[in-house]
Amino acid sequence: MTKYGRSPWLDQFPKSRIPSYPKHRGPMQSDVVIVGGGLTGCATAYAFAAAGLKVTLLEADRLGRGGTGAASGWIATEPGVPFAQLERTVGLRSARKAWQAWRRAALDFAALLRRLDIRCALEEHDSVLVARSPEEALRLKREQKVRRDAGVDAPLLSARTIRGELGLDASGGLRGKDGATIDPYRACVGLAAAAVARGAQIFERSGVRRITFTRKTADVHALGGVIRTHRVIVATSMPNALFKGLIRHFWFKTSFLVLTERVPAKIRHQLGSDRAVVRDLAEPAHAIRWVGGDRLLVVGADSDAVPPRQRDKVVVQRTGQLMYELSTLYPDISGIQPDYGWAADYALTAEGIPYIGSHRNYPHHLFAFGDASHSVTGAYLASRVLLRQHLEESESADEAFSFNR
Ligand SMILES: Cc1cc2nc3c(=O)[nH]c(=O)nc-3n(C[C@H](O)[C@H](O)[C@H](O)COP(=O)(O)OP(=O)(O)OC[C@H]3O[C@@H](n4cnc5c(N)ncnc54)[C@H](O)[C@@H]3O)c2cc1C
Repeated sequence: MTKYGRSPWLDQFPKSRIPSYPKHRGPMQSDVVIVGGGLTGCATAYAFAAAGLKVTLLEADRLGRGGTGAASGWIATEPGVPFAQLERTVGLRSARKAWQAWRRAALDFAALLRRLDIRCALEEHDSVLVARSPEEALRLKREQKVRRDAGVDAPLLSARTIRGELGLDASGGLRGKDGATIDPYRACVGLAAAAVARGAQIFERSGVRRITFTRKTADVHALGGVIRTHRVIVATSMPNALFKGLIRHFWFKTSFLVLTERVPAKIRHQLGSDRAVVRDLAEPAHAIRWVGGDRLLVVGADSDAVPPRQRDKVVVQRTGQLMYELSTLYPDISGIQPDYGWAADYALTAEGIPYIGSHRNYPHHLFAFGDASHSVTGAYLASRVLLRQHLEESESADEAFSFNR
């Protein structure tokens, strides 16, 4: 029976091992207050605590059960938009910098998870961007040329190689080296534990209702009291009621995810030996990865944000749609059933890459909003960019993610 509306990461995590943090109570002071305990908030709590700062993280619900618990768990080495599109919106210099920063963040993120020995099913996997129709093949060729001219080349794969290594019919593909896949929930709670070990304080069920500020300080009004600070990091993945003034910068979307039942060994064999993450150029695009070596996870069918009252129905419908679309890519898996079907909300920026940093209307604040990449990398990238900004050690590449890019 398909489980709808729950992700396997949350559903399969042993209930007795779900970490629990206290509710915040009473007035406090902290160097840094982080609002939101998803992957971005927890990676940022770790980065700031490891840099020796006194960190307080406030999560409205429980850690990692928002966008993170619903994510696909892919550490991509490039942003979610084609290079050619990014170049058109932010210019060649910024696009190249964003690309390089993304790649470095992906490598560093995997290295950090390994170094901290966080058990989150980390596996290294390349990715392949495939073209299936003649129109997509043309776009892929253009993309490769633009990348080559910009010095961020990716090797072109022939239809034959893709058939042999990935078991799917495509007219060509671009290989992206060095990505990885993880269980995003385990990575999130692991980073939270590592942050606590470095002195961070984490509070759950401690939603922030309001943030006020003067020239010198900010007051974070949480359910249990006020925390005074010089730095607020907003890691709620998208602007909500706390920052109504920023909502106009975003489009609110829902993406859908399906995890199949085990694919029998005989069929797996027919799908080639390469376990790269596959992305296509369809609109909306799909990303497909293996989980545990024998199940396929597919993300796609993005639409405008689905209101809560329609959600259950839409998740069932999109699960069927994604299974059908998966079977057009891999006809051999026809008949395989979905084990899980769920949805993930996200906010999209005009350029398709996140905003990470300050906004002139909000002194003392730093934001990390709007990752639409289907990948984990933005959360880690944000933690590094935000720390550099806080320490006034920004790198020129960080500008590619600023609100006034
Ligand atoms: C389809 C899809 C697939 C994706 N796949 C991946 C992936 O594979 N890996 C990945 O990491 N990313 C993926 N992303 C992006 C993903 O959403 C982010 O990268 C990241 O996981 C989200 O982390 P976050 O911490 O920014 O947000 P969230 O995990 O949503 O965390 C925000 C937290 O803020 C809390 N919060 C909100 N308001 C308040 C408040 N007022 N007070 C206190 N707390 C509050 C929420 O309860 C929530 O826990 C994907 C996105 C989409 C759309």
